[in-house]
Amino acid sequence: MQQPLLLALLLLAACRTPDYTRHQPDRCPVHRVAMTQRVVPIAYGMIPMSQAAAEQGEWRRRMDSFPHPGDCLPATSINVHGERRARVFVCAECAAAQRQDLVGTRQELTVEALKRRGQTPPSRTNR
Ligand SMILES: [Zn+2]
Repeated sequence: MQQPLLLALLLLAACRTPDYTRHQPDRCPVHRVAMTQRVVPIAYGMIPMSQAAAEQGEWRRRMDSFPHPGDCLPATSINVHGERRARVFVCAECAAAQRQDLVGTRQELTVEALKRRGQTPPSRTNR
């Protein structure tokens, strides 16, 4: 009795998940490796970055460096209708590049915070 209901709910959920892999290349344009598919959350709202970073083309840099990290699908670049998740292509190399980029960003933010407080940041020789 519960299995048909569960199956119906799963089918309904699958039907409401937009597939952004259709008619798209399955190789990363940056890293030239085969990508896998993953269902990811759709991120609504502003991309978290400073206005200065946005004006310096931070979003373009990210898209040029790691366009398929597979963490989410920004709703700013697609036409969505309230869906929460979408199927996308994911590149392992993009995911690794994004992780490295986030580590670097955190280190730079920490250095800036220390400078604002008048403290000396640690030596950068171990980067
Ligand atoms: Zn890639």
